[in-house]
Amino acid sequence: MERAEGIYYWSQDGRRYIDAASGPVAVNLGHGNPAILKAIEEQARKVSFAFPLSFRSEAGIAFSDALLAAAGPRFQHVFVTSGGSEAVETCMKFARTYAVRKGESARRFFVSHDPSYHGATLGAMSLTGDCAMQELFGAIAPPAMKVPAPLSYRIPEGQTAEDHARHSLERLRASIEELGPENVLAFVMEPISGLSSGASAAPDFYYKGVREICSAYGVILIYDEVLTGAGRTGAFLASHHWPQSKPDLIALSKGISSGYLPLGAMLAPAEMVDLVARSGGFPHAQTYTNTPLACAAGAAILRAIEEEGLIANAETMGDLLRRRLLEIARNSPIIGDVRGRGLLLAIEIVADKRTKRMLPLNVNSPARIGQIAMEQGLVLYPRRTNGGKFGDWLMITPPLIIHASQVLDLAERLERTLNLYSD
Ligand code: PMP
Repeated sequence: MERAEGIYYWSQDGRRYIDAASGPVAVNLGHGNPAILKAIEEQARKVSFAFPLSFRSEAGIAFSDALLAAAGPRFQHVFVTSGGSEAVETCMKFARTYAVRKGESARRFFVSHDPSYHGATLGAMSLTGDCAMQELFGAIAPPAMKVPAPLSYRIPEGQTAEDHARHSLERLRASIEELGPENVLAFVMEPISGLSSGASAAPDFYYKGVREICSAYGVILIYDEVLTGAGRTGAFLASHHWPQSKPDLIALSKGISSGYLPLGAMLAPAEMVDLVARSGGFPHAQTYTNTPLACAAGAAILRAIEEEGLIANAETMGDLLRRRLLEIARNSPIIGDVRGRGLLLAIEIVADKRTKRMLPLNVNSPARIGQIAMEQGLVLYPRRTNGGKFGDWLMITPPLIIHASQVLDLAERLERTLNLYSD
């Protein structure tokens, strides 16, 4: 690829491609936005780097203020990082600091979902339910207990999504009991799954149920909104869809940086930060925390999300795209499911729609569909994780700036791709 603008990429030979995935579900604002490029250039001329232990920068303050305003009244503090894995790790270490300072130093175990994806660094990876990563690196990562994610499609035969979510809640409670509640530090989950199972949301009661269990056992509830944040699902945070979810800490990245510069964040409430500050502080710092350049980009991105009405657009364009995907699915023998919220959508690829049988594992089918899509001028994000245990799907997650004619163009190219694949 040679250049990119809006929802499009252009290759060296001049061909145009629709970015139907926003990279890895990151470029929420689209490519090459002039306001963001201008903000980065202006900041670079002022000051590119200010050592965070010596100074606060105007850009860092502007970014934090804008992020807190968008996130709503639950959070009063932002800790800026350079990406999603770091944001998750910051939440893990901050949770531990808070527990120790409260006098609960036995709390050291994490519980998370299987499947899930929380990042590539050791701590974040330990939460991730991915067989290949766990097999290789599990021995050198901190242990984390996994409970079944409340999936809506790949669930045991005979169960409804509601049954499965209830089972998932029971497993969470049982895991905490098994580890000994006084030893459990935090439960970490994505409110709507991203790359581990493709845009799967739980029934409403699940979010309230998780909060109740965590509160009952004094377990800190961490939402990984690295992928769902910054308007992607039709709300600034996906947790805004479920007011009773009340996470204690939130990790953010992808959408708040939109791919312009490396940027992530932890959101934390005053009550937790004040206790930690009063009792010795949070011994966690990195050279590239709060860099003015990334923060200037972040502040401009948050401004653009608001000024361009992108959260509402994610909802209306998401509805249109979902309707088109359902139409395509009705006529396609290989689409088993269409799911997601806002512009976080996915379609499940199957060999048999009735039995949900997967495509043969010896052909990497999602990747093959991705290749055909490229030939149709469409960049998809095909996924198969855990050796195919949780199915094959395509993320359909275009930038939030997409408009109706572009949605229809995307859907038409996708339909052509699937027809060519099934022929
Ligand atoms: N959490 C989630 C939910 C993610 O989707 C990702 C990235 N795919 C991460 C964490 C890790 O973010 P990064 O790749 O920026 O380290």
